[in-house]
Amino acid sequence: MDTPLNLVNVTLEYPDGDTTLKALDSVNLALGAGEFLALVGPSGSGKSSMLAVSAALIRPTSGVVTIDGQEATGLRDAELTALRRERIGIIFQQPNLLPSLTAAEQLLLADHLRGKPLAAARTRAAELLDVVGLGAVRDKRPHQLSGGQRQRVNIARALMGRPKVLLVDEPTAALDHERSGAIVRLLREVTDEFNVATVMVTHDTEFVPMTDLVASMRDGRISALQPAKAPSRASS
Ligand code: ADP
Ligand code: MG
Repeated sequence: MDTPLNLVNVTLEYPDGDTTLKALDSVNLALGAGEFLALVGPSGSGKSSMLAVSAALIRPTSGVVTIDGQEATGLRDAELTALRRERIGIIFQQPNLLPSLTAAEQLLLADHLRGKPLAAARTRAAELLDVVGLGAVRDKRPHQLSGGQRQRVNIARALMGRPKVLLVDEPTAALDHERSGAIVRLLREVTDEFNVATVMVTHDTEFVPMTDLVASMRDGRISALQPAKAPSRASS
């Protein structure tokens, strides 16, 4: 099976006074293309640490992280940066858009930083803004967009580099209920359409049924990994 994201025995330790704190404790995870995983668990259980090692932003203390078949843990910093840029899309709670750029320009800048030609980037940006439902507001700047629209720009931008893995930390924390549902639905759609492996940290267990798998974290471990939907029972 194609597993864009694979974590084997991943442990991440931080010094904690005289001892060490295990932010991640022997975590294993294999996520396939087109699979959408919800990561839930109490504050401090290791959810953000999971995203950080999966994004190759932090090297684990031990264990192996493989992204799109490349063993991240064996790479040098420059190679890690390239891997992150080419294979990973990251979406944080706050969209972090540049105030002076239009929605379309936010996407073009992302590709420019990747060294991609502008003409191809324009086509891709227009397509992606249509996919996330922002075709009509492509020339608006962040202050002219709603919170939900800004998060959609963020999602489209994360997809510009054709990532294999999409990592999303609390995408709905700043949004009301209705807009939150729409954002999770959009993440479901892009996971299917672009065949990415998506990990979403969320507090909203209500939206978990839109995902495929739910991983519950506790004390740096995945304490349960289950299908997000209960298998449908035959009615008699
Ligand atoms: P969550 O996202 O589930 O709230 P985190 O991954 O942020 O959990 O944190 C997991 C544990 O690791 C917590 O106990 C946290 O205090 C600790 N931790 C996270 N980042 C650091 C850091 N940079 N230095 C020291 N401890 C950290
Ligand atoms: Mg966190």
